[in-house]
Amino acid sequence: MEPTEVSFDSLKLHPNLLKGIHSLGFIRPTPIQAQAIPHILAGRDLIGCAQTGSGKTAAFVLPILHKLLHSHLKKNCRSLILAPTRELALQSMDHLKALSKFVHLRGTAIFGGVPMQPQIKDLERGVDIISATPGRLLDHIYAGRIDFADLEVFVLDEVDRMLDMGFLPDIKSILRLLPHKRQNLVFSATLAPDIRRLVDEILKDPVVIQIGRPQTVAVGLRHAIYPVPRHLKTDLLLELLHGQKMTSVLIFSRTKHFADKLASMLERRGLKVSVLHGDRSQGQRLRALESFRQGRNQIMVATDIAARGIDIDNISHVVNYDIPATPEDYIHRIGRTARGEDATGDAFSLVDREEEPLVKDIERALKQTLPRVTLPDFDYKKSAPPKTHHESHHQRPSHHGPRRNHSGGGGGGGSQHRHGRDRRGNRESR
Ligand code: AMP
Repeated sequence: MEPTEVSFDSLKLHPNLLKGIHSLGFIRPTPIQAQAIPHILAGRDLIGCAQTGSGKTAAFVLPILHKLLHSHLKKNCRSLILAPTRELALQSMDHLKALSKFVHLRGTAIFGGVPMQPQIKDLERGVDIISATPGRLLDHIYAGRIDFADLEVFVLDEVDRMLDMGFLPDIKSILRLLPHKRQNLVFSATLAPDIRRLVDEILKDPVVIQIGRPQTVAVGLRHAIYPVPRHLKTDLLLELLHGQKMTSVLIFSRTKHFADKLASMLERRGLKVSVLHGDRSQGQRLRALESFRQGRNQIMVATDIAARGIDIDNISHVVNYDIPATPEDYIHRIGRTARGEDATGDAFSLVDREEEPLVKDIERALKQTLPRVTLPDFDYKKSAPPKTHHESHHQRPSHHGPRRNHSGGGGGGGSQHRHGRDRRGNRESR
């Protein structure tokens, strides 16, 4: 993330926010911060096209805090940040709390999978800012615990991901409850037509800020495609794990079921493994992330729920056990490694013959041919073991189908999408 020539002082933020910024060691605003903050302070609606890692959270959090500090104190919530996943909702609130260390504003994160009571307590005490996932937020709203009459600023973060996960009906329900007069900020990695339509409905005369190309790949990232028959993928993975210095490995599985299965298998081989997907409880997810982040577990097996928004330093390898259904998903997955300036990382993809067309799509999007790698000592001719193999459970992507259907294939995103229709159906508390 390259800093800018602009100084934080020149953005005219409240002095106590500058203290917070300095206490985090931020020297200069990132491009999205330098460009977005003045417009947000001026009250404009805004679309920010930027990835996680660009500093986009502070780009909206800082001006929101500044504005709330200068407006009259109210009983009700004055700013709402909607996020697609519990992790992102929590991450944004943590960042907000760190930046607001020297100001007296109250924020809370609202998401499913954890007991209601502490959230109810926070809401009863009164909060200025809520960072929430849609399902649990609606539960609190319908129980009469949140009143948005005083809402000033509404943020939709990672709206592309939200639409992928089937949150559109929830977003619309929430929008109906917000006051007409408000400021709207929308952040998205891409501006596909369905996102544009929603954005056009929500925003009034927005400023559009595009940081970098929407689909970029870190310079220090090395791709490798490992062609392998499907029934030998696990063997090849083990070979890779044993043969290379893979200090911190994020393995993507298309389905939750297979993520669990692969994790147990790796654990039986003596490896330390975290698992992250949409069926795990909030506590399990946080513990999985922490063990992986702190290096206690060398491996994390995850569905695409971890492909965006998760900010963990020093992931040495991303392994695609299955090739993702779209180039965009590939770019998001591999973006978990080689983070930060000068960082390097490897993205390995295990690809059977039927997945080759998806690799071609990725190569077209990246405008490069990805190197094919074969392991000299690996027996590619081994026959499939009898029936017990995972393949019977494992769905494969269809090529060129609609994107939603891909993400509905049983992975983290898929489960969310399915549950998305069942709005009050405990989507986030599973
Ligand atoms: P985000 O894109 O909001 O997820 O931010 C990515 C990371 O960049 C977070 O770890 C932030 O703490 C960090 N960050 C945000 N703004 C700055 C800044 N101006 N200078 C240095 N680091 C920053």
